[in-house]
Amino acid sequence: MKQYDVVIVGGGIHGAGVLQAAAAAGHSALLIERRGLASGTSSRSSKLIHGGLRYLESGQFALVRESLRERAIHLRIASQLVELKPFYIPVYRDTRRRPWQLKIGLWVYALLGGFDASSRFGSVPKDEWSTLDGLETRGLDAVIRYYDAQTDDALLTRAVVQSALSLGAELAMPASFTRAALTDDGVTVTYSEGAVAVQCSARVLVNAAGPWAPRVAGSIEPAIPIPGVDLVQGTHIVLPFKVTAGIYYVESPADGRAVFVMPWNGGTLIGTTETPYRGDPDMVQPLPEEEEYLLAVARHYFPAFRHLTREHITQRFAGLRVLPAANEAAFDRSRETIFSTDRLSKPRVLGIYGGKLTGWSASAAHVMARIGASLPDRPRRAGTDELILRRPA
Ligand SMILES: Cc1cc2nc3c(=O)[nH]c(=O)nc-3n(C[C@H](O)[C@H](O)[C@H](O)COP(=O)(O)OP(=O)(O)OC[C@H]3O[C@@H](n4cnc5c(N)ncnc54)[C@H](O)[C@@H]3O)c2cc1C
Repeated sequence: MKQYDVVIVGGGIHGAGVLQAAAAAGHSALLIERRGLASGTSSRSSKLIHGGLRYLESGQFALVRESLRERAIHLRIASQLVELKPFYIPVYRDTRRRPWQLKIGLWVYALLGGFDASSRFGSVPKDEWSTLDGLETRGLDAVIRYYDAQTDDALLTRAVVQSALSLGAELAMPASFTRAALTDDGVTVTYSEGAVAVQCSARVLVNAAGPWAPRVAGSIEPAIPIPGVDLVQGTHIVLPFKVTAGIYYVESPADGRAVFVMPWNGGTLIGTTETPYRGDPDMVQPLPEEEEYLLAVARHYFPAFRHLTREHITQRFAGLRVLPAANEAAFDRSRETIFSTDRLSKPRVLGIYGGKLTGWSASAAHVMARIGASLPDRPRRAGTDELILRRPA
């Protein structure tokens, strides 16, 4: 039976990040992914590497500060994959958040980002509104511009795995985790590659299975604690009309929620929704009413979209957020990553629940700190902040 320091279940951005961090720290590490890299949530996000301006409203300052720090790191180490883009917030007579409120928010955002070059913001002069992709100007009071970053989430995930493999990490794919048994100082892991059942041992098993994480945790014996989480579906649609000036951050005319309208692969990506989800994570798919909700946003702000219907949608996808279980609306719940271990001292299992694409590297560093005492000392191979991520072929 092969022995690893760390075995990771799930080839999304979190699993990729932990694989890279473990390999960089000199550990033997195996990633088990049952379908394809980023085949789950990590190809169905809004594709933003951002601080999350709106999280300031719910007081998640630590999260915003960490995310802005991660954005700065991405712009340095993943410049082929992460691009700084202008974001536009149009403010109409009936928009809930007024220009002065937005500017206070952006000032705090800049402060948390350390007032670096990407922290600049201001109003777009009225004589430049015509450059904004035909944005509706009736009732428009102001357009606020600031900067954040966009990526290709699936390519980013593959780039991180590629980096980990170049440091000696291993990948089993397609391979499905089936069960694990805890021993005194580790875990015996069973996974299937086709019809073949394979067993290996790990000092630590990292459960990075995203929305499937509770299911993976439930296949570990003896039973370990599983944090209470809810799944919330987020849908995006792509329309065959191109916005080019940047990313628009608008309020849904239906309920005032923030929605992004973004250039994407020659079309326009619009998202997202927040629909409670109680089904099988494998079965999640966009609902007709979510598509109508997003179309209504596009039609409201861009006259050029007004004739478009669901038949014009060229691509649609839904992903599942993993949020702490609570009664409040999904929009207001913490976006902090939840880390859960089987025991406080020398954990054998660590689960990653929720979190953000933007924070993958900080999350991976946190995981390594939490499981450090369970792992043998090894000579470090690299520091993850210095590893350049290249666009996969
Ligand atoms: C709609 C939406 C929009 C978002 N937008 C943003 C954004 O713009 N910016 C941002 O920073 N964050 C965003 N997020 C959050 C971000 O996308 C997620 O935090 C992140 O992608 C989660 O990655 P993960 O690795 O935890 O899970 P996943 O990407 O879901 O990966 C889990 C993997 O586990 C695999 N797996 C499951 N079971 C098994 C098994 N038994 N054996 C082997 N493999 C298994 C799956 O195949 C999958 O590949 C968004 C999330 C959603 C839902």
